Amino acid sequence: MSHDCLFCKIIAGTIPANRVYEDEYCIGFPDINPQAPTHLLIIPKQHIASLAKADPEHKPLVGHLMSVATQIARSHKLDNGYRVVVNTGDHGGQTVHHLHLHLLGGRPMAWPPG
Ligand code: C5P
Repeated sequence: MSHDCLFCKIIAGTIPANRVYEDEYCIGFPDINPQAPTHLLIIPKQHIASLAKADPEHKPLVGHLMSVATQIARSHKLDNGYRVVVNTGDHGGQTVHHLHLHLLGGRPMAWPPG
């Protein structure tokens, strides 16, 4: 846990979040500023600052997060498709420095992203 990390505080329960998913390794909860009808964040319980900081030892965990995104997309009936985004670093638009997957769905998405 990183004591000045917002998402670590959510994991610890000191900042509330509506956990739509939880297992031993990660939680899923709604983004506070949704960009689509469904916009959830999936974050590992272990503090990893970004995808760029994930080491080979984190490979199973990163794969697990992707698999959970699929599972949540199914349970939220995102049958027409969805988008999984991992903003990484400054140019990637990352604002919270704890690895997280955005799961966005419920509307058609455009490409390229901004
Ligand atoms: O990828 P990025 O780092 O920009 O995403 C961080 C996300 O965390 C934002 O979409 C923001 O709305 C969300 N957030 C949140 N709850 C907070 C603070 C930020 O869901 N308390």
